[in-house]
Amino acid sequence: MKLAMWTYEGPPHVGAMRIAASMRGLHYVLHAPQGDTYADLLFTMIERRPSRPPVTYTTFQARDLSSSTADIFRDACREAVERFRPEALIVGASCTGELLQDDPGGLARTLDLGLPVIPLDLPSYQRKEHWGAAETFYQIVRAFAANRQRPETIDPLSCNILGPTALGFRVRDDVTEIRRLLESEGIDVRVIAPLGASPADLARLPDAAFNIVLSPEIANPAAQWLKRTYGMPIVSTVPIGIGATRDFLAEVRAAAGLPPRPLGAQAGRDRLTWYARSVDSTYLTRKRVFIFGEASHAVAAARIATEELGFTVCGLGTYMREFAREIRDAAARYGVEPLITDDHLEVEDAIIAARPELVLGTQMERHVAKRLRLPCAVISAPAHVQDFPARYAPQMGYEGANVIFDSWVHPLMMGLEEHLLQMFRSDFEFNDHAAASHLHPHAPAAPASAAAQPVRDESADGATAIDVGTGWTADAERELKKVPFFVRGKARRNTEAFAASRGIRSITVETLYDAKAHFAR
Ligand code: SF4
Repeated sequence: MKLAMWTYEGPPHVGAMRIAASMRGLHYVLHAPQGDTYADLLFTMIERRPSRPPVTYTTFQARDLSSSTADIFRDACREAVERFRPEALIVGASCTGELLQDDPGGLARTLDLGLPVIPLDLPSYQRKEHWGAAETFYQIVRAFAANRQRPETIDPLSCNILGPTALGFRVRDDVTEIRRLLESEGIDVRVIAPLGASPADLARLPDAAFNIVLSPEIANPAAQWLKRTYGMPIVSTVPIGIGATRDFLAEVRAAAGLPPRPLGAQAGRDRLTWYARSVDSTYLTRKRVFIFGEASHAVAAARIATEELGFTVCGLGTYMREFAREIRDAAARYGVEPLITDDHLEVEDAIIAARPELVLGTQMERHVAKRLRLPCAVISAPAHVQDFPARYAPQMGYEGANVIFDSWVHPLMMGLEEHLLQMFRSDFEFNDHAAASHLHPHAPAAPASAAAQPVRDESADGATAIDVGTGWTADAERELKKVPFFVRGKARRNTEAFAASRGIRSITVETLYDAKAHFAR
């Protein structure tokens, strides 16, 4: 048993739903209790799909447990086939359905439904959503692409794109971007799967020369099977960032038997490179950035942050235990401790300890960063509805790099703004307690000397609020405000403890620095 309030991933049957919802002609019959239909909302609300995902739930109730839940499952299969007329069916159980041990695969086989039925065995108590999606995709690729005769002659400039799925982070636009990029290299994209593919399309996978894996979390097992079975090479660089996009294209050209492009031939295809070099970006240099998310997005973000924007990575992690090795390797490159956890509280502690100036993460880290008053950009699933935007917003390829530059830099204070706010932080208009100046006519007047007022101070390092009106001189209080807010609470507590131990009743600037020197020893 583990107490969990937030979870980065859903159960594995949600991963299977993502595959079913990505494809055409595939239907999922899910043995699940009443209430599990909540998962539909992920697709209709967050991804804003205009139709329900192709899933039929058995929705058994407590009173059904005394009769045959197996009969309910059989009826659901028959009705789904009759109503939706799919090309193929996948069948499985949710967490509670798994406990009933009704064996959906065996039951569906006895029905003679007249279409391929693929049973899914997804261990809900050991595995999670991405694993469920990868396993489902692997099983259906095997079911439809097995025993195919590969054509005698295969166009070396042909490929498949594997991995894009429903509910993937910016997947819709990544597919468009990468397809365009491949076409500009003269590469013919035969099948994109699972997004938009039908079972018949999966049967055509072995007809292409090689496979491109855009999301290893989803497509690795299927791509490895195609490689073992048909000898199809895999292009595995995830093209997020300029360097990665160039490496990706080099890998594609090698897989297609094309000569490498001379270095510099792709210069000028993005704006990130010049924007990051322009003098206005100088203030970005060495900004401390904490990165957490889906493994491939986190690794790509760390590379962009260091090689393309000049940030310093101060934390790197993922919630995907299956990709711990990739994160460990990357963390070693940047000299930080890898963080492999699905506990958001551990991530929050790591963020506080790393003292970043920018957080790049999932929807969860967005909340944490908001609480800590840190700038943040979302780089990975799980994401909320605002990260399924109406506008074109890829992460991959050259346009993806442009989008990334804007979305990472915008939350940061602009260089001049930062500089001026530091210089004039005791000014009535810019002190920490002043309302935004455009609200001035309606804002409560800022106190003449904010420092002179007793205020409640909330600190990111878990310090409880302290009444600061007693014991501290106004100068000392002002000086304390220069300490970064994550450690301000600690600095306050240490100084007060230091003053108490020496019988100092009035804390001055000198006391603050004496305490600092004392605790630094
Ligand atoms: S079956 Fe699983 S997904 Fe459904 S409500 Fe129970 S725990 Fe949640």
